[in-house]
Amino acid sequence: MLLECKCLTVDQNNCPIFPKTGSYNDDVINVHLICHSHDDLGWIINVDEYFSRLRPELIPASVEHIYNTVLIELERDPQKKFSFAETGFLTRWIESHDKKDYKRFQKLVANGQIELIGGGWVQPDEAASHYIEIIDQYTLGLRKLNESYGECGRPKVAWQIDPFGHSREHANIAVGIGYEALFFARMHYLEHEQRLKNKSLEFVWSTSDDFKENQILTGQFYRGDYGPPPGYCFDIMCADEPIVDAPQLQGYNIDHKSIEM
Ligand SMILES: [Zn+2]
Repeated sequence: MLLECKCLTVDQNNCPIFPKTGSYNDDVINVHLICHSHDDLGWIINVDEYFSRLRPELIPASVEHIYNTVLIELERDPQKKFSFAETGFLTRWIESHDKKDYKRFQKLVANGQIELIGGGWVQPDEAASHYIEIIDQYTLGLRKLNESYGECGRPKVAWQIDPFGHSREHANIAVGIGYEALFFARMHYLEHEQRLKNKSLEFVWSTSDDFKENQILTGQFYRGDYGPPPGYCFDIMCADEPIVDAPQLQGYNIDHKSIEM
């Protein structure tokens, strides 16, 4: 049974509108930090090895623990939000956990703390795959999300942050599915440089010569890949200076960290 969505800002389907909270100020630059997953369903090791951390000597990652710990943090603090992008791993997590955990996840989707993005079983390759296979894998992923979370689990943005190269037809499929926006992180470096210069990393992509109304808001990440901006990597694999925002502490640095950004 699907939970009823209960949050302050909802759409006509009673589903959370993102961002649900947060304030905007016209006279400063408003920075939105999006906490999101990026879990490959197979790359250096296979999908099961990623999920259960079976090859730590090759990749010290455990997708299952990302799910487990994000849930705990979101439940501790209702102001926190997170976006999950890989339906294949999400399905694997649900199937290997009990109903109680599933309901915890459902609740966080319904109250808007978890936003599901992308929606495909994986982030599909756009260059070499046939369009029918791309549609098939989106169908599988979106069907799973619909069965598990109903209307509130419907992703609103296509999230292609790791495929190498982006095709117009994939963007057109995204329009056809009904996504409101498409984000990616890898673009040819010359185009990236040019767009950085003329401030056009965000643009509206016309995806079809036949259907002029097929357009989608598209965003390319600032850095040219999916990593954080320089100086802002706090993962286990990097050691950037942590942010200290309490003035009474030695090492207080929020002022200069903000300027760096
Ligand atoms: Zn990846």
